[in-house]
Amino acid sequence: MKVIVDAATCVGCGLCEQSCPEVFKIEDDNIAHVLKHNCSSCDLQEVASQCPVEAIKVE
Ligand code: SF4
Repeated sequence: MKVIVDAATCVGCGLCEQSCPEVFKIEDDNIAHVLKHNCSSCDLQEVASQCPVEAIKVE
């Protein structure tokens, strides 16, 4: 599985980090960064679908 955040689209709302801090982290640039590409405790497709600007792709 591969998780990609489009840095140009992300608005740094923090929703993905709230949903899955194992995978997403808002860094100093105020953009969500991907820490790893899988999560045992949440559905990453679901997290991606919650992004208000559709910046997260899960392949
Ligand atoms: S939910 Fe989307 S817009 Fe919000 S921080 Fe995550 S990737 Fe960025």
